[in-house]
Amino acid sequence: MMNYYSLNQNAPKVSFKEAVIHGIAPDKGLYFPERITPLPRNFFAEIEGLSNYEIAFKAIQPFVGDAIPSSVLNNIISKVLDFDFPVVALEPTIATLELFHGPTMAFKDVGARFMANCLGYFSQESTKKVTVLVATSGDTGGAVANGFLGVDGVEVVILYPSGKVSPIQEKQLTTLGQNITALEVDGSFDDCQRMVKKAFLDTTITKSKKLTSANSINVARWLPQLFYYLFAYKQVKHNHQDLVFSVPSGNFGNICAGMVAQKLGMPVKHFIAATNSNDTIPLFTETKNYRPKPSKPTISNAMDVGDPSNFIRILNLFDNNADKLLKGFSSYSFSDSETKEAIRHLYKNSGYIADPHGAVGYLGLREYLKDHNGYGIFLETAHPIKFLETVENTLGIQLPIPEKILELIKKPKKSIPINSYNQFAQFLLS
Ligand SMILES: *Cc1c(COP(=O)(O)O)cnc(C)c1O
Repeated sequence: MMNYYSLNQNAPKVSFKEAVIHGIAPDKGLYFPERITPLPRNFFAEIEGLSNYEIAFKAIQPFVGDAIPSSVLNNIISKVLDFDFPVVALEPTIATLELFHGPTMAFKDVGARFMANCLGYFSQESTKKVTVLVATSGDTGGAVANGFLGVDGVEVVILYPSGKVSPIQEKQLTTLGQNITALEVDGSFDDCQRMVKKAFLDTTITKSKKLTSANSINVARWLPQLFYYLFAYKQVKHNHQDLVFSVPSGNFGNICAGMVAQKLGMPVKHFIAATNSNDTIPLFTETKNYRPKPSKPTISNAMDVGDPSNFIRILNLFDNNADKLLKGFSSYSFSDSETKEAIRHLYKNSGYIADPHGAVGYLGLREYLKDHNGYGIFLETAHPIKFLETVENTLGIQLPIPEKILELIKKPKKSIPINSYNQFAQFLLS
């Protein structure tokens, strides 16, 4: 049995199922597993003999507990992980872990699909449909839409700011149909988020609809990200020791899942959270003082976060003791011009085309390895094609468009225009 408690310490403990269905505790705290038990030593000694499915099952099963039967969980994992997670060596002590081989070409596919399948399973036992509300500034919406497509008992409503997501991202949100509806909001991402928050508090809606959200605070989106680190370890453990992971970070869910993998017993020398100019955590590592700021727009826009929601989980992993955390964790911030320079450097020296987020991860690694030893792996969190304009303009080349994207671009867009909260509420109630 595995229970989850609220990090605000003012709500009852719940099962994995309840934590997934509600997303956030009634006291507004994030859910956290009651315990993290290290995996047996032979799991790591023999990991190269295990398939990705076996690794994932053994790692996640204790967190799921008896909320999902093993046969169902196995089935979910085989659906979620049907693509590759290759480590690509670029320099003698630097490699990248490519997380963009999934259906929407961003690493959020794994968490979104895992959550979708868990929620789909849980909603079988209920006659009332669940409605998932998501506000997106780009990547989250696409991964969530794709992950939840065709899942019985679940409706997905995505709000996105009209004209403010990239053309590819917009197609990923608006061309699926079935149980996915895209609302095109005349406003900013913050307006979309405000509408979603308001709906959760609006009793005329919650009386008749079971609402949940699909952002990274949900444990079913957060925890499966720990698979990436195990898959990387499996690939490099024979040739390299002293692994250093550099994670391009926004809400800090991905890196926090990596730290859970470390708690499970995976040998890691150091974690680096690489950020763009949204430097709340780099500043924290200097002052040990957490000061959220408004977010600033950058070219690595999936990381434009000034108050990262998962950092509280990271602190909790280290008993809320900043000194303990900082023994194995650093965080650095980089400007857009440094990021572009890194994209050019990787292309010129390794023939590698990085996206702006991966490039920030690369810079974090280079900074750390200046005066430390180790073998560095930066996470490439999106395919460069998703940030076509920035990458093409930075490198002065044209990127070949993958088949998947060519097909996507041909599909007709379907969205419902929304210009006020009332219209949104009307839509939900209709
Ligand atoms: C969401 C996202 C990130 C940030 O991940 P967090 O878990 O929020 O830190 C980084 N890169 C890309 C491409 C993303 O979509």
